Amino acid sequence: MGGGDGARSRRWFLGGAAAAAAGCAGGSVGPAVHTQRHVRWRLASSFPRSLDAIFGAAEVLAEQVKLMSGGTFEIRVYPAGELVPALQVLDAVQSGTCQAGQSGSYYYIGKDPTLGFDTCVPFGLGPRQQTAWLTEGGGAAALAPHFAAFGVRSFIGGNTGAQMGGWFKQELGGLSDLAGLKMRIPGLGGRVMSALGVSVQNIAGGDIFPALERGAIDATEWVGPHDDEQLGFHKAAGFYYYPGWWEPGPSLSFYVGEQAWSALSAEHQAIFTAAAAFAARTMQVRYDQRNPAALARLVAAGVQLRPFPVDVMAAAKAASEQMLADDAAKDPKFAAVLEGWRQFRAASATWFGTAELAYAQAVGGSG
Ligand code: CA
Repeated sequence: MGGGDGARSRRWFLGGAAAAAAGCAGGSVGPAVHTQRHVRWRLASSFPRSLDAIFGAAEVLAEQVKLMSGGTFEIRVYPAGELVPALQVLDAVQSGTCQAGQSGSYYYIGKDPTLGFDTCVPFGLGPRQQTAWLTEGGGAAALAPHFAAFGVRSFIGGNTGAQMGGWFKQELGGLSDLAGLKMRIPGLGGRVMSALGVSVQNIAGGDIFPALERGAIDATEWVGPHDDEQLGFHKAAGFYYYPGWWEPGPSLSFYVGEQAWSALSAEHQAIFTAAAAFAARTMQVRYDQRNPAALARLVAAGVQLRPFPVDVMAAAKAASEQMLADDAAKDPKFAAVLEGWRQFRAASATWFGTAELAYAQAVGGSG
């Protein structure tokens, strides 16, 4: 870790020696006092306050940083649009408009396609697999140079869990029913749906419900029961499909500008790192706790739950793999990350397909 650790151990050593000397002299020994420079950061989020599980994680981060630092490190959190537009958070951290951000890295695949792996790609990893790949499977290390190109480092900021496939006005009989269907689905999932014949629409969050209600679109995806219920999609489309194979375990991110990071003390860096991990866990458990009740309310309100037809899932998987292979052929850096990621996915699928899957199937739907 370089010279910082040496300086740190020297300070601990000197602190210990001073305490021992004070003890020998019979004086009282108080707690060690570290003088911390007061740090105030701004964090721009890509999400509105109304998405309480996602945006709430940024608030948890700020609360924990303040508590753990004894008030010497404070972060003010700005919802989407207050400091910068929702999809310009990476740019804002890069330019120093704010020191930190909360976003989904797949919003920035237009700048660098490889950033998508930081969040998820179609037929990618489940939430635990994604976290394991990033933290222990070499994922974060492989992506770090891609973030460094923007002067940014990325921390895991939470996960929604496997998303739902979304809301459809008509029941899907099979793959042929996708032809010409107008669906709001952004990003790589939209590219795959387009390959399957869907007329893909990009509509911002607040405009989706009216578009669905008046029939400008036939279907939309968002996140899952907790968030979807709040947006009211069940009042405009009766069939709720699963799974959201394009977002099986999307990881949200906290960004920190490299300059702001390197100006922090080692203690404040450790505090931020621990607080980010705590905030990430908080987001996941909030979704896991709130989604079941929301789904039960939706079903009680008459929503028809449906798995995607088998031929839709098979065609979507084939089209997703083709899309990743096509992108890899155009971009050697993307190809390098894809190769390691595929190895991880294969091994992880075998493991998760054993005890985890057998147990989930044994208790699934039994209440
Ligand atoms: Ca989604």
